[in-house]
Amino acid sequence: MIKTVGGTEIKPRHRASCHCGAVVLELDLPDGIVDPRRCDCSICRRKGAIVASVPLAGITIIQGQDALRLYEFNTHTARHYFCSHCGIYTHHQRRSNPHQYGYNVGCLDGVNPYDLAEVPVNDGVNHPADRLKSPALQDKSIKQQSD
Ligand SMILES: [Zn+2]
Repeated sequence: MIKTVGGTEIKPRHRASCHCGAVVLELDLPDGIVDPRRCDCSICRRKGAIVASVPLAGITIIQGQDALRLYEFNTHTARHYFCSHCGIYTHHQRRSNPHQYGYNVGCLDGVNPYDLAEVPVNDGVNHPADRLKSPALQDKSIKQQSD
């Protein structure tokens, strides 16, 4: 649980936005920033964002619903949203816990994610949802996964 980042206090309802400002979200963060992480799955390694979690009910789209685009791949379980104007990833419905969104910590008002002390890296290559499958499916070179 992280209640301040740099000099910025995380409010119980904290605003977040994409880069161009078309998309504005309000996040319920009564416990601050929960479970911040990086991930090395095929999409996270490309976008490089630090992600944290909220329950699905914890994100309200204040503005820019029409600007958001949905990107899905592989199992089409995770739903990745980004601004169609500036391209910034804002949030995604998680594959490993579909009852949660992950969100881009760098989109939070006033938060510089590089001020977070230690951010662990999730093992997204060996996705928890794939670990029960046969070893033949574990070939990292052919898998496409997502947090
Ligand atoms: Zn934008």
